Amino acid sequence: MKALPERASGPSLLEEQLARLIANYGPISVADYMAEANAHYYATRDPLGRAGDFITAPEISQMFGELVGLWLADLWERAGSPAGTCYVELGPGRGTLAADALRAMRSAGFEPNPELIETSPVLRQAQAARIPGAHWHDQLDSIPHEGPLLIVANEFFDALPVRQLIGTPEGWRERKVDYRGGRFVPVAGPPIAASAIPDGLREAPTGAVLEVSPASIAIAQGIAHRLAVQGGAALIIDYGHARTGIGETLQAVHGHAYADPWSQPGERDLTAHVDFGALAAAVEGEGVRRFGPVDQGRWLAAIGVDARAASLARHAPDRAEEIATARHRLTAPDQMGSLFKVMALVAPDWPEPVGFA
Ligand code: SAH
Repeated sequence: MKALPERASGPSLLEEQLARLIANYGPISVADYMAEANAHYYATRDPLGRAGDFITAPEISQMFGELVGLWLADLWERAGSPAGTCYVELGPGRGTLAADALRAMRSAGFEPNPELIETSPVLRQAQAARIPGAHWHDQLDSIPHEGPLLIVANEFFDALPVRQLIGTPEGWRERKVDYRGGRFVPVAGPPIAASAIPDGLREAPTGAVLEVSPASIAIAQGIAHRLAVQGGAALIIDYGHARTGIGETLQAVHGHAYADPWSQPGERDLTAHVDFGALAAAVEGEGVRRFGPVDQGRWLAAIGVDARAASLARHAPDRAEEIATARHRLTAPDQMGSLFKVMALVAPDWPEPVGFA
């Protein structure tokens, strides 16, 4: 989508466009609403950091990207250091994770070609400043079809559109978004075919919300297929739940605070918890081995975050407190340690990854 100029007041151009679409064709799905809102949101700004709307693990500390890089380098080395391996990242944001990971991999004697999947022109520019030699792609299809792929996705899947199903006495219905009296309003739409409901969730408690993300499932399957054919591994890190379940998790964040997801689409970050259970089920039978999801805190501890933090603090004693705070934020159960999960997909002939025992 093209970036649109903002207006000083009144409904944004995107709001007017969506309102017109709904007036002409009827309420739209929650997935379409979320997709349009996020396409506009990411295309028009860098949302990360203190001055933005939210902060992510690689922006908290260089340790995060470095440990991801060392995890990848270790796997690559034990796979026999295959030539022509690409580093692929989905939704690299400012490019911080990629820059830290590539530096750590270089120090381990591994220099993969960076291939970045990013749709936002603003963020592509930020990435270009940090990652020399990178190539950009709109989606997985155009990533090189030869050579092993080491794929990383941190806080990417949570931005992908979810459908919401709403429980009614007549069963699950698609939740749609209507525009009434100058506001977006979620409403119950047409009934859902039973075959589209995840196993074990046929029952539809009245008022309950069930989220499904066909876009996430398609991308996870695309990744698994590529790994099975080309070799390599994928690391998917995000906040979410290990098992598919009922519950509404769609949320909007603006200026580091929760906001109403049904107002000002395109001006706030819309995300939903990642359903790792659904991703795991989706890659079953695709010819890859799956490890996790495990809690981010546990995974980082297993791959050496404490040693990395200690070494950084030794080299910069004046930053020791800042480093300890960052380690705590990334790993403590009441911070990012438990809500965030790590899942790996590994090609059949590649070695077992560390951190999932
Ligand atoms: N991984 C980064 C940024 C997370 S924000 C970090 O951890 O800091 C989400 C990222 O995904 C942004 O780079 C955004 O532009 C990108 N993104 C969102 N939807 C996308 C889509 N459908 N296709 C490609 N990139 C997308």
